Amino acid sequence: MKTNCYCGSTLSFNFCCETFITKISLPKHPEQLMRSRYSAYVLHNADYLIATTHHSKRKFFDKKEILHWAKANTWIKLEILKAEENQVEFKAYYLDERLQAQIHHEKSTFKQEKDIWYYVDGIFY
Ligand SMILES: [Zn+2]
Repeated sequence: MKTNCYCGSTLSFNFCCETFITKISLPKHPEQLMRSRYSAYVLHNADYLIATTHHSKRKFFDKKEILHWAKANTWIKLEILKAEENQVEFKAYYLDERLQAQIHHEKSTFKQEKDIWYYVDGIFY
């Protein structure tokens, strides 16, 4: 049975975000990184989320908090609204701890260093 990747692409997980999360390949553009980071939330992979955050911003992120946020919510789907050269606007749909439907709407900024894309920060709506 073929199931689509957590990020909502038409590819299966092992041909999509898994290749980035397991470092088999590098995301070629911010949208791929954004998608793989969403999948990492689904999979509670805080290490990947920290590793893909720009080093100048890592101090603002705590592994325990990321893990708590990832686990507390039930991730439903990702919707990419707009992907540009170094920015991606998206909506992540999830159920919170009280099983209330929530939408995390963010425009994230990414930065490439030595061929590796990193998440820098985001504007929240
Ligand atoms: Zn994916």
